[in-house]
Amino acid sequence: PFHKSKGQHILKNPLLIDSIIQKSGIKSTDVILEIGPGTGNLTKKLLEVGKSVIAVELDPRMVLELQRRFQGTPSSTRLKVIQGDVLKCDLPYFDICVANIPYQISSPLTFKLLSHRPLFRCAVIMFQREFAMRLVAQPGDNLYCRLSVNTQLLARVNHLLKVGRNNFRPPPKVDSSVVRIEPRKPLPVVKFKEWDGLVRICFNRKNKTLGSIFRQKSVLSMLEKNYKTLQASQLSREESSDSTEMAKSVTALGDTLGDLSMDTDECKDDEDMEMDDGDAKASDFKERVLGLLKQGGFEERRSSKLTQADFMHLLSLFNKADIHFS
Ligand code: SAM
Repeated sequence: PFHKSKGQHILKNPLLIDSIIQKSGIKSTDVILEIGPGTGNLTKKLLEVGKSVIAVELDPRMVLELQRRFQGTPSSTRLKVIQGDVLKCDLPYFDICVANIPYQISSPLTFKLLSHRPLFRCAVIMFQREFAMRLVAQPGDNLYCRLSVNTQLLARVNHLLKVGRNNFRPPPKVDSSVVRIEPRKPLPVVKFKEWDGLVRICFNRKNKTLGSIFRQKSVLSMLEKNYKTLQASQLSREESSDSTEMAKSVTALGDTLGDLSMDTDECKDDEDMEMDDGDAKASDFKERVLGLLKQGGFEERRSSKLTQADFMHLLSLFNKADIHFS
């Protein structure tokens, strides 16, 4: 009856559901967004504590089952079911999101939520354990990666609960964790495309020094190309960075971050040679880039240990020198 391709793993343990509800800090005035309600085990308890629940479910059979389950109950008027793909639909206003989601949409969903306006208070979401650990990883942790840095730019993230696979029917192949995501208010003033452009380069080889990362031919020529384009078009440094543009690039980010396979450092060919100094002009540019790294004390540092503040500092050094990552 359950579709593996839709990530249908139903929560069976009522104590666990209670614990998720309790840790969510739902208020009686809250409009709750639930993603993938399935047969409604979580939905039922959400309706008991919140003002209303908007549930987005892809599978029409589940939608029917959900409607049947709540039909004629007092809470049915406070439940709105939207049938569709949560990644494709316009989200309504909500105060809090609580969900046991299909794991294949973890990354795009996270960034879709973080680009939603107005910003919600928090999201309490069940993820695959490793994805959860990546979300909350800190500089120096093994799983610290582009996903950690990008998410933590936009939100505070905490691990709430470890959940074994046997709490689900059918049990998935992996363990899970519930994570709390609380959007930063206000959001940091930064262009997300620029930020992610820098972070992506840094985590391509997260255990190398920044000095060696920025000596790569491909990196230097990309930066130089951006630099020249900018000079040519005489764009001002303060391009528009209004909130819709920000939101767009945050949404796009979810699509470019694979769910788990990203940022692995291991099997990268080193076909990417360091730039030699044969070309005088290229070497000027290279010296400029390396000079900036030195100026900030970044040359010998490694991405795996850089904090949000470090990335911010690094990006501003580059941007002030008219060097851009997007
Ligand atoms: N919330 C229920 C529970 O905890 O028992 C079911 C959770 S199950 C892990 C995920 C649910 O999300 C399934 O009901 C599945 O049909 C639904 N789903 C899968 N992909 C979806 C998508 N793109 N948009 C909305 N719902 C989706």
